[in-house]
Amino acid sequence: MNKLIEQSVFEQISENFANVNSIADGCKKLGDILGLDQPVTPKVFIAAVKNEEYAHNLLVSRKTKPFLNHLLASPPEVQGFQSEAEHSTKELLSSACKAIIKWAKTGFTKTSEEEIQRRFNACSKCDHIITEKSHSHIHNLLNTKARCGLCGCDIDKKIRLNNETCPGKDTKNPGYNFWGQKIN
Ligand code: SF4
Repeated sequence: MNKLIEQSVFEQISENFANVNSIADGCKKLGDILGLDQPVTPKVFIAAVKNEEYAHNLLVSRKTKPFLNHLLASPPEVQGFQSEAEHSTKELLSSACKAIIKWAKTGFTKTSEEEIQRRFNACSKCDHIITEKSHSHIHNLLNTKARCGLCGCDIDKKIRLNNETCPGKDTKNPGYNFWGQKIN
């Protein structure tokens, strides 16, 4: 595990989700982790378990209330979702525990200040950066000032997430992207 992970938060998540025994219990525990004073809805919980990107966004946005509220109000549709009861299975709860612990590993990983600055410098002089106002509702909520023209991500958030990568190939440095990461 990366040493920069907020160890206490990760432990709290691992402990809380070691034993989710019902959808209602999962909703409450996810609400606690997101800092809410009430449980998340079953639809949010199911969407978070089934959609890794949504779960990741919830976790990393827990301190950005407008973005978090937007995510909570509009969980993505889960294919085949009919009812809460239909998903109250051991399999779902078991995969929920695994998924949430996995998000914790990525979502709470911090990037060092030096690395953030290095990424910021690379993005600032990159031809792919777009600085005009985004038309995306989510980007507007976050008051986006710059985004990557290749992946559409908000630069300010992207450079801070440790598991993010730059999608641009650096032709002056074959095999690497503009952030100096090796391309697989
Ligand atoms: S391609 Fe890479 S360096 Fe360029 S804006 Fe996107 S993330 Fe930044």
